[in-house]
Amino acid sequence: MRVWTTPRSQNALDAFAALLDLNGSSYYTVRAYRRAAELIRATPADVARLVSSGQVRALKGVGPGIEGRLRELVETGELAELRELEAEVMPELVGVGRLLGLSPKRMRELGRALEVRTLAGLREAVDAGRIETVAGIGPKTAAKIRSRLAEATTAGPRQGMTLHRARTLVGEIAAALGGEPAGDPRRWSELSTRFAVVVPSDAALLALEALPQIVSVLERDERRAVGVTVEGVPVEVVAAPPESFGTALLRATGSPEYVASLGDLPDAPTEAEVFAALGRSFRPPELRELGVEEPPDDLVGLADIRGDLHVHSTASDGKASVLEMGVAARELGYEYLAICDHTKAVRVVEGLDAEGLRRQAHEIAAANEELEPFRILRGSECDILPDGSLDLPADVLAELDWVQISLHAGQRWGREALTDRVLEAMRHPAAACLSHPKGRILNHRPENALDLDRVFEVALETGVSLEVNGLPDRLDLSGEHVRRALAAGVTIVCSTDAHSTRGLGGMQLSVATARRGGARRGDVLNTRSLSELRRR
Ligand SMILES: [Zn+2]
Ligand SMILES: [Zn+2]
Repeated sequence: MRVWTTPRSQNALDAFAALLDLNGSSYYTVRAYRRAAELIRATPADVARLVSSGQVRALKGVGPGIEGRLRELVETGELAELRELEAEVMPELVGVGRLLGLSPKRMRELGRALEVRTLAGLREAVDAGRIETVAGIGPKTAAKIRSRLAEATTAGPRQGMTLHRARTLVGEIAAALGGEPAGDPRRWSELSTRFAVVVPSDAALLALEALPQIVSVLERDERRAVGVTVEGVPVEVVAAPPESFGTALLRATGSPEYVASLGDLPDAPTEAEVFAALGRSFRPPELRELGVEEPPDDLVGLADIRGDLHVHSTASDGKASVLEMGVAARELGYEYLAICDHTKAVRVVEGLDAEGLRRQAHEIAAANEELEPFRILRGSECDILPDGSLDLPADVLAELDWVQISLHAGQRWGREALTDRVLEAMRHPAAACLSHPKGRILNHRPENALDLDRVFEVALETGVSLEVNGLPDRLDLSGEHVRRALAAGVTIVCSTDAHSTRGLGGMQLSVATARRGGARRGDVLNTRSLSELRRR
């Protein structure tokens, strides 16, 4: 019997899930394996023993399929099908194909027809003119593949990657290579297309292809290598000696237009020394865009944040209880936290009505007793109904400490009607903050037509703040909108909209977005203490 180890089994199940996903298996099957991998990591029981004694099905989410895989892992230490699937799925070709704009299915057909499984093999076939002989590949497609392959190392992915995933990707690669993350994610760009890592030695360039994130290395010379992920995302790794490391980091961070505007860059070990040599003050990466003015001295920072004003609990679609969220927020050093569960009109998830909110008040009071002097606020993420009224009776709204008003339906309404609806809600005396004002979901749903200038006017009139929602696929307001809001004199709130204790970590994305808009500490309401907040 081979040795069962938890990390190894977890990796095997994760890899299996990723390959099933590539192979077009159903979402639910893929998710089941991902969850099984998670479960093994999280479960305190001896999983191997549960499998041997036939009791593993008692764990939530383990059906007969997963039980079979676990048994194989316990008995043999590996999954035979994983190897077969890898041969069939061809992750290297899939990653390269996505970069070239070809679907995994198409790329695998091409690989089988050409009898190649790697980028090198594909290049050889293309150079030899064999690609034109493949059935279904016309001269136009062949020319497209040839030219995209030639420019692959300078091309970006076809769709920008959201911030959390982008920072994780460059962060993991940088950590593995002993370098620094750079490119768009380091500037906290809402969608990243340029991924870079700067390493202090060329030896690290060789290590790139062994990384689990990289399926193929597109190009490599003495000072630069470009790898591609299975998702078709190219990652550039630049080697720089210590004496010019700062210069290389500044260049690789961009934006290219901003860097170009600095003129010739002197060689220096750190970015700060490059700026100093240019006679400029240091500029944080998130403000390195062309046309952005010098940052203020009191630019808001994560350490200034004293509480989170928009989070969910299990009463709506959150994964943690009120108390668990409170404990986690207190651990972050916060003074307060507003629990803002959904109301009934949101429909797709559980929502609270007046009665539910009053029941929750007891839960919050009990948690507050335990967490004192930390304070959990009674809040709501209250839906804005089509006529602009709020989805809760006035008496219960008046009891609450903090009311987020939110639009979750009707994002496609015309400018006039949508704006009137939102302004009406902002005028409700209980309204404290307008959630995710532009309603966009990055890569999925464009911004709504809401007239921000009119919203700013009414925000000033009513004292309602505007949220900078930190969910990575929202980041709403955007940095650009923050800039406009601040110019109008409006106060913003940096919130996570966390649905789990881990989600509270999204505050850094919200703060970075506010910083991209040039927000000072005083512009952000939740940099204030609870008593100042109550005086608002
Ligand atoms: Zn919402
Ligand atoms: Zn929410």
